[in-house]
Amino acid sequence: METPPHRNQFASDNYAGVCPEAWQALATANSGYASSYGDDPWTGRACGRLREIFETDCEVFFVFTGTAANSLALASLCRSYHSIICHEMSHLETDECGAPEFFSNGTKVLLASGDDGKINLEAVEHLVRKRSDIHYPKPRVLSVTQTTELGTVYSVDELLAVGELARRLGLRFHMDGSRFANAVASLNVPPREITWQAGVDVLCFGGAKNGMALGEAVIFFDRKLAAEFDYRCKQAGQLAAKMRFLAAPWDGMLADGAWLRHAAHANRCARTISEAAAGVAGVRVKYPCQANSVFLDLPQAMIEGLRRRGWHFYTFIGSGGARFMCSWETRDEDIEALLADIREEAMACR
Ligand SMILES: *Cc1c(COP(=O)(O)O)cnc(C)c1O
Repeated sequence: METPPHRNQFASDNYAGVCPEAWQALATANSGYASSYGDDPWTGRACGRLREIFETDCEVFFVFTGTAANSLALASLCRSYHSIICHEMSHLETDECGAPEFFSNGTKVLLASGDDGKINLEAVEHLVRKRSDIHYPKPRVLSVTQTTELGTVYSVDELLAVGELARRLGLRFHMDGSRFANAVASLNVPPREITWQAGVDVLCFGGAKNGMALGEAVIFFDRKLAAEFDYRCKQAGQLAAKMRFLAAPWDGMLADGAWLRHAAHANRCARTISEAAAGVAGVRVKYPCQANSVFLDLPQAMIEGLRRRGWHFYTFIGSGGARFMCSWETRDEDIEALLADIREEAMACR
């Protein structure tokens, strides 16, 4: 089979490599012996930097994947007879292979709809209020994704409203922040405004998609909720023996602002693609481009044409459309090459 030419891709921000700041931090941490299982200076510093960035004394844990972060965080908020309410397109429902239910011993996930990947608050209230009898799994957690799966971002006011509803309904508030950095860069607000000040109890803050090799931070703003979470991590195989290598990239990327720089860069790249693609005949931008992804409605022939030209992109996310995802590593020439091919394919489709 012919090997397609090497080029950067838009399939996922997970296609990108490790950013230089994270790589450098790993190299720096690779200096002789250090205590294991988190009892090392890098882990201590990374936790401290997260407390600085969120301007609160939160409790922090590092795990290997976003699925583990979400599942363990949710399990810690629920008992097996509870339920978790989330958007029908949320990662924890569609892309975690049942891990939230598995790690919580059967907690049920209840789905609410909502435009542009954002949960509709009336739908949430309906799910909670429609039953109060013992036969219905007791609603316990409201989970939102920031940045959403469709590349949109909840505004500060929208999150305040979610938090207020959660409080009124007696629900804990979980945030899947696998692309939290992109949301902060997009809104340009202090991270506290879109987390604990809006009532978020637990944030799963993504590192991999931001430019690390791997690793996500589970951040409890309500420290009481973190009780025995370390045991949960250990039992799930998520307590890294050489924790310094999970933590050091956080230390490095938070210290010099790389986390926000890279997120802002990825957002700008997506904006460029979105604006240019909107002007191409036969192409429709599906959702407002507020972070690092662009969803395009393309004719099937164009999808196939772009794939023949060697482009990788997903068409199964959310309600369809071709998703183009930017990362810290996306270059101007990648964008130009993609746009040129989109224009040529559009001409061929006319
Ligand atoms: C990528 C992603 C995750 C984490 O996925 P893992 O592959 O388990 O690391 C979680 N939530 C959302 C919205 C994601 O896009």
